[in-house]
Amino acid sequence: MCGLFGIYEHSNAVALTETALKLLQHRGQESVGIASSEHGKISHISGMGMVLDVLTSQKTKQIQGNTSIGHVLYSTSGTSTVQHAQPFVFDSKYGQIALAHNGHLTNATVLREELEKNGAVFQSNSDTEIIVHLLAQSSEKNTIDRFLSVFKKLEGAYSLLALTEDSLIVARDPYGFRPLSMGILDGKTMVSSETCTFLPLGGDFVRDVNPGEMIVINEHGIKISTIKKISKPAYCSFESIYFARPDSLLYGNNVYAVRERLGKYLAQKHPIKADVVIGVPDSALPTALGYAQESNIPYSIGFVRSPDIGRTFIEPNSEIRRNIMPIKLRPIQRNVEGKSVVLVDDSLVRGTTMNVVVNLLKEVGAREVHVRISSPPMIASCHYGIDTLIDDDLIASRCSIDEIMDYIMADSLAYLSTQDMLKALDLEKRSLSYCTACFTGEYPKEAQPDLVNLKCHP
Ligand code: 5GP
Ligand code: SF4
Ligand code: MG
Repeated sequence: MCGLFGIYEHSNAVALTETALKLLQHRGQESVGIASSEHGKISHISGMGMVLDVLTSQKTKQIQGNTSIGHVLYSTSGTSTVQHAQPFVFDSKYGQIALAHNGHLTNATVLREELEKNGAVFQSNSDTEIIVHLLAQSSEKNTIDRFLSVFKKLEGAYSLLALTEDSLIVARDPYGFRPLSMGILDGKTMVSSETCTFLPLGGDFVRDVNPGEMIVINEHGIKISTIKKISKPAYCSFESIYFARPDSLLYGNNVYAVRERLGKYLAQKHPIKADVVIGVPDSALPTALGYAQESNIPYSIGFVRSPDIGRTFIEPNSEIRRNIMPIKLRPIQRNVEGKSVVLVDDSLVRGTTMNVVVNLLKEVGAREVHVRISSPPMIASCHYGIDTLIDDDLIASRCSIDEIMDYIMADSLAYLSTQDMLKALDLEKRSLSYCTACFTGEYPKEAQPDLVNLKCHP
């Protein structure tokens, strides 16, 4: 999971990219970087950590240019080193190129083996580096043909920004797994993983980059090409449920409205008599509000979240994950003591969060805790750029709903069905199609997971 932002030929490009990355911080907190081009020369900075800490004004002064791309990284476990900080910037026989990628290639192993046979030496285990080598080895003479021929070789998920010495290149894989949108500011084109960046920068949303589209922007104008057409896109449904910011417009839908609707469906399908509805901060709060509105049970704030404790989800050690939770989230006793509580969250992955959170509520006197999850049981790994846990780590792939209920010590547990989730995502009305592979185990046909590759990133 990652966040991307780019802007073409704006006099304030670097500062705008820095601000945009702060607005995309929820998509990646491991590393951050900006590359910028001026007079055919690309300069860049990157570092491990949060945007605010890494991109100090002194550091951003080191880079200049009117066309910039930026990246925040949310790596999968084991790849959290500075070599993985993006944009990747490299020299090729065609000049300098900077690349920023959100997604995960499903044919990475095959491509990497072929490249290594041809003499490529890799400096990281990032699949983005494969794109670097493919571009460097390409024999196509012009920029558009070169990028297009490389994109045609990629399978899986990529929303991607590239900077050459004279062009900004934008691409989204034919399934459109990861979001990517275009905006406008002072007549200049912006591209962003999420639309939440456009308004605060003073600009406007224009349209989504279509699945399978490659857009090249340079002094000759905007040239749009098709990488490949697929009959049905596979927009990531989990982006709407958990990942994206509620103030973004995702696949044409306001994310807050989708989450509120998910909560309403949960209340209709899984009602329970209770005194109060609370949500697990932050992603499930609009969903809990939707549940409360539909059920007419009062909504309340159940937890205070300690602001300085970062993301615990990808911490590989389960003991650390478990120990940090009661410090990260503190229950508000007066709102739950003696009450029967409906506790709403967006997903159960390993079940650790819920196990701790239910226990915290009971410790401060909650009488009953009824857990409601606004997505279906997660039974299969994502191979398209969301944290890739192996199937066995997913509690719902090993345990029945009753067993999970016992493990998390809830008085009842219910999930939204895939059908209801898709209804809340507005599928029918807008004839969109979503990826639901982590809930159904059915991966899109031409993006079957590369299981060999997965073993390299446990
Ligand atoms: P669990 O503790 O069950 O492994 O994780 C579930 C919790 O993690 C939920 O509260 C959910 O909001 C959050 N979550 C689910 N998927 C992801 C992810 O890919 N990354 C992060 N950071 N959190 C996630
Ligand atoms: Fe999104 Fe799940 Fe599909 Fe991954 S498998 S792209 S998380 S819906
Ligand atoms: Mg959560």
